[in-house]
Amino acid sequence: MTKIAFIGLGNMGSGMCANLCNAGHEVHAFDLNEAAVQAAAAHGALPALSLADAVKAADVVVTMLPAGKHVLSVYFGDNGVAANAKPGMLFIDCSTIAVEDAREAAKQAEAGGFLMVDAPVSGGTAAADAGTLTFMAGGPDAAFAKAKPILDAMGKNIFHAGGSGNGQAAKIANNMLLGISMIGTCEAFNLAEKLGLDAQTFFDISSVSSGQCWSMTSYCPAPGPVPTSPANRDYKPGFAVAMMLKDLKLAHEAAVAAGAKITLGEMAEKVYGDLDARGHSGLDFSGVMKDLKGAL
Ligand code: NAD
Repeated sequence: MTKIAFIGLGNMGSGMCANLCNAGHEVHAFDLNEAAVQAAAAHGALPALSLADAVKAADVVVTMLPAGKHVLSVYFGDNGVAANAKPGMLFIDCSTIAVEDAREAAKQAEAGGFLMVDAPVSGGTAAADAGTLTFMAGGPDAAFAKAKPILDAMGKNIFHAGGSGNGQAAKIANNMLLGISMIGTCEAFNLAEKLGLDAQTFFDISSVSSGQCWSMTSYCPAPGPVPTSPANRDYKPGFAVAMMLKDLKLAHEAAVAAGAKITLGEMAEKVYGDLDARGHSGLDFSGVMKDLKGAL
């Protein structure tokens, strides 16, 4: 049993926190949203009145926050995690943030004598609730070794991707590929239909041919072939346009900093940016299909 401070009990963090409790850990839960803390308490966590209280009661900190600015201020701001942490404490940030922000956080943690891993996740709220997330972690070997048993309680596949920030690098490169492949899959289904094929016929052929990809076989953007995909519930998320756009922006920023050419990544960012600007940020990211059909 480990004493854990869990900060950020939103859509993802609530399920992750509950799974840590289910695994027998003593979890001190805090969120700015009081109702989220009460919901965590109903799932077995100990409600903390403040960030400082949660951290002081714990030996490990896990965070699941919206963006890099929240992560840096929660850890290193006034009366934040670092100001209340025991020497040598382990910090695990599971939020999706910029590679640069993750490296900056790790640098500050190391300077303060703490261990830190960035451990963003793949899998949405269903995987967070079920404890089947994929974690891609970056950080020193010693920090990863200590973090692994805690991540095991929240996920199914746990990878050590290398040094600090490498977890975020894996996450945004993967999601850039996902965004690109989803747009390509939507365009292919739309073209096939306009040329006279129904969605099921095209799926049957392409899913066992060279166009096969996850966006097609697990998350088909055309209604019908994959009953669990958001296409069958009018593109309710799932994984929303706003989340995909966030990840594509992070990929773009990182690519500029690293001097990597991402022609299709930038085009995908434009496609999702356009949907977002037209008020469709809450649509599932496979809703590109609906737009191609002129139904938005
Ligand atoms: P969310 O907005 O539902 O939850 C974030 C929580 O952090 C909120 O409850 C908010 O009150 C809390 N918070 C913000 N600032 C705080 C502070 N200073 N102190 C304490 N609590 C604070 O977001 P989410 O959907 O749970 O996503 C969290 C992270 O996971 C994001 O980085 C997101 O990109 C990533 N992610 C989300 C999904 C998904 O499907 N939702 C999938 C993979 C990764």
